[in-house]
Amino acid sequence: MSKIHYQRLNCRQCNSDKLILAIKLKETPLANSFVKKSQLDESQSLYPLDVYFCSECKHLQLIDVIDPNYLYKDYLYVSGTSKVFVQHFEDYYRCVKNYFKSGLIIDIGSNDGTFLNFFKKDGYRVIGIEPAEKIAKEAIDNGIATLIKFFNTSLSKEIFESLGPASVITANNVFAHVDNPTSFLEGIKYLIKDSSGIFIIEVSYLVDVINKNLFDTIYHEHLDYHSIISLNKFFQANGLEIFNIEHLDTHGGSVRVFAQLKGGKFPIKTSVMDFIKLEESLGLDKIDIYLNFSKKINSIGKELNALLNSLKAEGKTIIGYGAPAKATTLMYNFNINQDILSYIVDDSKWKQDLYTPGMHIPIVSKDFIKENKPDYILILAWNFASSIIKDNISFHNNGGKFIIPLPNLEII
Ligand SMILES: [Zn+2]
Repeated sequence: MSKIHYQRLNCRQCNSDKLILAIKLKETPLANSFVKKSQLDESQSLYPLDVYFCSECKHLQLIDVIDPNYLYKDYLYVSGTSKVFVQHFEDYYRCVKNYFKSGLIIDIGSNDGTFLNFFKKDGYRVIGIEPAEKIAKEAIDNGIATLIKFFNTSLSKEIFESLGPASVITANNVFAHVDNPTSFLEGIKYLIKDSSGIFIIEVSYLVDVINKNLFDTIYHEHLDYHSIISLNKFFQANGLEIFNIEHLDTHGGSVRVFAQLKGGKFPIKTSVMDFIKLEESLGLDKIDIYLNFSKKINSIGKELNALLNSLKAEGKTIIGYGAPAKATTLMYNFNINQDILSYIVDDSKWKQDLYTPGMHIPIVSKDFIKENKPDYILILAWNFASSIIKDNISFHNNGGKFIIPLPNLEII
């Protein structure tokens, strides 16, 4: 065990030690640990990627935790670069406006400040919290006050001292990264108790993970796979209550969860019970659904592997398309290595000329496809399959074929 990794022995939400191994995946390196050419000789550590089910509170989680300082200080994801996300944040801002017309808005994991900027333009006071230095500085340069720190109880007190209570605190795609969510909620409560404020999170939704075979969203940054059943219990146990839930299409399927202090002024909408009923009908509160999910993923992997190996045996060349973080989970679990893929194309400039985590497959620009004329493209960023195919239609018109690995294996 290396210094940046530890393994917890109890549930992150309820502290129970009744954890059952639910989805066993292969060990992987950290999903975003792309390397430069000069680092190719250095071997990269692999960490267990096993998902556990808490039989007490029904929460699904990783127990192998990587030090967040290591994971997030140099984080590069910039929300303002994607048009789809800017639109998402504008809609989100309009939604929040229905609850509070003024006051302090705090965004935890504020990235480049794209979301807060909508509030600032509308006269709200705003503050972002973002530990990734480069991105936080970009937000500050764009006029969004940002604290370059991790959120915790002591930071919540500092903010309260200088800015007072918050009307709304948001945490978008952050809550599943937090190893001590109880302390996180303590900080939230401290900031909203004097304002009857609300706390809104957006997290990937477990129902979508299961129904759409999104197993490759399981990697070390995502410690939690949230269901409303377990989240509702967890918030209740910590003096908060969920009063509304919306389903979103982002990240393959997410939920926006609205919470307030127990007994707060917003009525509890029927959406909360609707989500819980749906989850109970699917059996998300029992271990079997996760064991069946594992079996399904393994059989997709075997089928894909048989196909790729037979193509290689025929002398075909195969390349990958897209090097998102989740490709690391997919490649390690489905044994897609350098013997199968000659190289991987990614449209993001900052990934080109780097090598994939652990397997060190080169990442190049799509110009390589024209020069090398591969026979098959395996789409690793399979959630973007239709736009990747559209962008590379000349490859297809010249006889090339696409392989889409998930949600069901497909050749086009
Ligand atoms: Zn638990």
